[in-house]
Amino acid sequence: MDIYLDNSATTRPADSVIKAMRSAMTDGYFNPSALYAPALAVEKHMNGCRDQIRQALHANGGQVIFTSGGTEADNLAILGPLKDRGPGGRVLYSAGEHPAVIESCKALSAYGYEVAEIALQPDGVMDIDHFEAQLTGDTRLICVMQANNETGAIQPLAQVSKLRDEKCPDALLHVDGVQGFLRHDCPVQAWGIDSYALSAHKIHGPKGIGALWVGERVRLSPILYGGGQEKGLRSGTENTPGIAGLSAAIASYPKEHAMRTLKLRLLERLVAGIPTLHVNGPVPDSADAADHILNLSFAPVRAETMLHALEAESMYAGNGSACSSRKQRHSHVLTAMGVPRERMESALRFSLSPDVDTAQIDAAAQAIIRNYDMLKIFKRR
Ligand code: PLP
Repeated sequence: MDIYLDNSATTRPADSVIKAMRSAMTDGYFNPSALYAPALAVEKHMNGCRDQIRQALHANGGQVIFTSGGTEADNLAILGPLKDRGPGGRVLYSAGEHPAVIESCKALSAYGYEVAEIALQPDGVMDIDHFEAQLTGDTRLICVMQANNETGAIQPLAQVSKLRDEKCPDALLHVDGVQGFLRHDCPVQAWGIDSYALSAHKIHGPKGIGALWVGERVRLSPILYGGGQEKGLRSGTENTPGIAGLSAAIASYPKEHAMRTLKLRLLERLVAGIPTLHVNGPVPDSADAADHILNLSFAPVRAETMLHALEAESMYAGNGSACSSRKQRHSHVLTAMGVPRERMESALRFSLSPDVDTAQIDAAAQAIIRNYDMLKIFKRR
């Protein structure tokens, strides 16, 4: 039996998702821009998915633009409102952001913007005092993610938005919701969020499809030019099987799940067997911690050694950020948190999905403790 605990990297598409995508390709393959009835039915289905997204975000209005995933949604949210409107002003992003956000922000410096990073606290939550100090009157855009993909740290979006309203009300607030969507509530309008990015493959949907929700006050320019689909904001024939999969993934994502309980169960068992274990991130049972992510250091055992030992038992976990785990660089998130080198080099990320059950968690804990006990004697000198 495989035990898959790398759900922040990607999730297994749900059966209902595969069924919906198959049907979108066999029966509903029409181009939604066409004028005949079957094509209009596809368009209607796409608009239904936009409504599902608005509903999940408690949004009464705003626009939902389909993209090729979280990365493109972040790029569009960051470059779209500013690249043609410069020069001048500041762009702020929290140091734990995904590279899709960080690199898009940095790209704005070529358009005359001053780009600055907001520090993280040692627990991975952004430093709100540092944010306040950086928030000057000429700030144009603030990017803060909902939940961090490496540590699960939930970011203080309501507080960020309140400070923005007080000090710099015209600045846009973009939220990368890729790891938070459906798992943690994010009422975009109540929290003064201007744009929100999501991705289907993190919620048991397919890869290569995502969406950007944008609120009324965002004046977005496209970053892709062509046939003018998505009201001119994202040209290219829509990925209708992907959208069908995203729609099915949202519909079938459970409202109630045991991820938090199981995450804490895993931690409890591991701490009992490995008392020297270290949590990288917020206190796991606090409100600052996401339900599904646990980042732990198993010093002195190196992360790759542990990962391969677990792999030999058909158990899969993550090493730092999945999007860059093949790169040998140290995690920029753990670095920003000031995690010491040995802890960083022995850090594993366990990420759950609603599919994970108690038996898997208990088996995983046993395998981790057994392998740790075996490997810890091969200490690097
Ligand atoms: N943002 C976060 C927080 C992520 O975790 C990821 C992927 O891991 C992305 C953005 C990129 O999403 P996608 O893989 O859909 O491009």
